[in-house]
Amino acid sequence: MNGWVKAYVTIDGHDVFPAEVATWTSWNGAACPRFTRQVAERVVEAVSTTNQRGPYEDARELSWQEDVIICRVPGSEDQEGYEPERIEPDHDGRYAIGWKAWTWSEVWCQDDTHCGEPDDLAAPVAILTWSEPDRTRPDAQPTLTDAAFCAPCLERARAAHPKATVTTLPPL
Ligand SMILES: [Zn+2]
Repeated sequence: MNGWVKAYVTIDGHDVFPAEVATWTSWNGAACPRFTRQVAERVVEAVSTTNQRGPYEDARELSWQEDVIICRVPGSEDQEGYEPERIEPDHDGRYAIGWKAWTWSEVWCQDDTHCGEPDDLAAPVAILTWSEPDRTRPDAQPTLTDAAFCAPCLERARAAHPKATVTTLPPL
């Protein structure tokens, strides 16, 4: 684990994955994570089922070829000599999906009680999803909000949003 820390990462704020994040590098402010095979399968599935969704714009089409993840840039197939990227497991059996290519960000408890200093970051235990009506446009679709919370903050957030959906995160 030298050079890696366990943290949750996301691209769109909704799908959150347990990962190991490189401590020695980052990419344009984005985290550089790697994933276990089990989590990598979830990433592939999430990207495949939601790649039409806005936040995954910079994500790509992923598929498995035995132990290797094939990463295609949509629309590039016609270009001459185009070879899709092959993401092979590293020597620890981890997959660095979107390494220095996707805008992964680390996920911490988003409650205001944390001051935002690095030593006050709390790992979340769940994602809360609730809809909020747009008060300025009553006939507009309510907007969905996703927020991550640590255990103590989750209780308060659930009280504030009783109809919210709770997605428990797998352990880090
Ligand atoms: Zn918290």
